[in-house]
Amino acid sequence: MNAASVIPLHPASAGCSTAPVLRERGQHEVFCGLTGIVWLHRKIQDAFFLVVGSRTCAHLIQSAAGVMIFAEPRFATAILDERDLAGLADANDELDRVVARLLERRPDIKTLFLVGSCPSEVIKLDLHRAAERLSAQFLPRVRVLNYSGSGIETTFTQGEDACLASLVPVMAATAEPQLLVVGALPDIVEDQLARLLGQLGLPARIGFLPARRSDALPAVGPGTRFLLAQPFLGDTARALESRGAQRVGAPFPIGVEGTTGWLQAAARAFGVDAAVVERVTASARERAAVALTRLRESLAGQRLFFFPDSQLEIPIARFLSRELGAELLEVGTPFLHRELMAEELALLPAGTRLSEGQHVEQQLDRCRADRPDITVCGLGLANPLEAEGLTTKWAIELVFTPIHGYEQAADLAELFARPLRRRALLAPSNPTRAAA
Ligand code: SF4
Repeated sequence: MNAASVIPLHPASAGCSTAPVLRERGQHEVFCGLTGIVWLHRKIQDAFFLVVGSRTCAHLIQSAAGVMIFAEPRFATAILDERDLAGLADANDELDRVVARLLERRPDIKTLFLVGSCPSEVIKLDLHRAAERLSAQFLPRVRVLNYSGSGIETTFTQGEDACLASLVPVMAATAEPQLLVVGALPDIVEDQLARLLGQLGLPARIGFLPARRSDALPAVGPGTRFLLAQPFLGDTARALESRGAQRVGAPFPIGVEGTTGWLQAAARAFGVDAAVVERVTASARERAAVALTRLRESLAGQRLFFFPDSQLEIPIARFLSRELGAELLEVGTPFLHRELMAEELALLPAGTRLSEGQHVEQQLDRCRADRPDITVCGLGLANPLEAEGLTTKWAIELVFTPIHGYEQAADLAELFARPLRRRALLAPSNPTRAAA
């Protein structure tokens, strides 16, 4: 298999690099940044996430993450009650007491994140100072950091960005050559990508942010080049740059084409020949291409509409369009970071309708007028749209499922093929349904 077999179903064009973007501001329908705790607490295995918030925040986290019955949980909510909100009690004193009790009971915790919420921000509780105060008390055993997961004007993947950005100032300094992969990936995906990067023979150490354990937190400095594995990490990228690291521009490792482009960018950054990438990735690309062939039959020509939700919309739309032949009606994203998205926008078919931000009523009008075959949207919109006869895909599932890299390309396509199969099975004209 050669590069040409990476299926540019659409001929090369200027893509959407300079395409106009419909900017909308209005009511939006997304989860808040607290949601990131669901995957971050699994990734950083000796960290604890203490949300400083209300009962609503506690319910959100509990219902999103499920109740852990057999394991000690690694997240909790310190509830701000009426006395805190009314300023009648010193929330800092109570927070110090809660943290001391928690750390006494849980010697396994090495990093404690104090996670801000809408209520803690409304009463202007300074969690940064609280984290400094508590770090001074509990270091070297436990480092206390803080970030905001508040839902005011944000979307849920920003929780991860804020969390990783809070780690950057405490990374040790190094001038050694290093490639840093940035973004929380499921361990199995991280292992696959680490293996491929290792086989490229880069003349540099390879690190991952976040690390699985606090004592493995990578160092950073002027010899560090970093590759984003997730598209929603603008603040983390800026924080790393402020420590002297340089970002390597690349498409995101989603689909065969994106993963190859991502690895090629890593190779280029360290002077490794593109032919090495071709050789190292040949069998993985071949396997992924075979697995995608079957799914292309289901997805080619299907018309897709993306509501802005996870910030993964553009790379996933690029993959579905270029590798599976889907047609893009509208690709919405909560924020369009042109610099981080430059390589992705260049690959998106010219003429794709791009929107940034959300005015949910106007976008629903466009969606209803388009009558897409698949609508990718948040949970709150999915059921009403299904009731109107539209087939939907929950955007949040794309964040909770391993989708990066060659081995997951077919799984990602399958997430979109499945609702189409379900629709076909439920169609009144389906003889199986009629018999039932
Ligand atoms: S942080 Fe804000 S949006 Fe998120 S659950 Fe708490 S109150 Fe709701």
